[in-house]
Amino acid sequence: MKILVAVKRVIDYAVKIRVKPDKTGVEMNNVKMSMNPFCEIALEEALRIKEAGKASEVVVVSMGGPQCVETLRTGLAMGADSAIHVSTDTPLYPLAVAKLLCAVASREQPQILLLGKQAIDDDANQTGQMVAGLLQWPQATFASKVALGDKSDVTVEREVDGGLETLRLQLPAVITTDLRLNEPRYATLPNIMKAKKKKISSITPEELKVDIQPDFMILEVVEPAKRKGGVMVSSVDELVDKLKNEAHVI
Ligand code: AMP
Repeated sequence: MKILVAVKRVIDYAVKIRVKPDKTGVEMNNVKMSMNPFCEIALEEALRIKEAGKASEVVVVSMGGPQCVETLRTGLAMGADSAIHVSTDTPLYPLAVAKLLCAVASREQPQILLLGKQAIDDDANQTGQMVAGLLQWPQATFASKVALGDKSDVTVEREVDGGLETLRLQLPAVITTDLRLNEPRYATLPNIMKAKKKKISSITPEELKVDIQPDFMILEVVEPAKRKGGVMVSSVDELVDKLKNEAHVI
């Protein structure tokens, strides 16, 4: 059984984001980039399924500019068997990524397509749902536990308001991963060396016959409003008065 994992290259979660002066987006030059944390969790889960003997191959796929190859190398160093780079310099939005993933999945024929529940740069939380729709595969989003059944189904636990929901899906299926599913491994030095010999194939959206033009445009990106300074109050009565008559929250 093959598992395909979509891994996105994003600005590292520890970097303080700066908006470009022309407000067209955020500064990407000379900024540390990493694999999206939810994608690391997706890859870790795929590797654990393989190590449990329930899958034979883990393939990572990333879409975007040439630097995505670095992210794919990280995936290979974590333990993926091979990688696919869908190479384009056109900015990609979730629908375009979903269409590309649909095309890659149709070629690769995985039994499970694993994605992060969301990318921490666009916070879209759309790609998994859209690719499941395009492929017409069942989907389980925000997975907190994944258990393979016999060869044809998978059971997924999801954290929902006030409890856990358990779903059983027929394979092939799309699963998106939540934070508590697992703790991703670090790549060890020997595995980083081994990853250099693993295969990364490259393909373009044109070769996949996918139109990636967005159907919307970003008008403006601005920083959040600066927090106003606090005020010291001398008594509870004064606090209540301010909350009532100034902030109007009680
Ligand atoms: P989003 O819908 O943008 O929040 O992204 C959700 C998930 O879709 C990510 O965690 C990735 O698994 C996948 N994804 C989004 N963009 C890309 C990309 N450019 N390359 C590979 N996977 C992606």
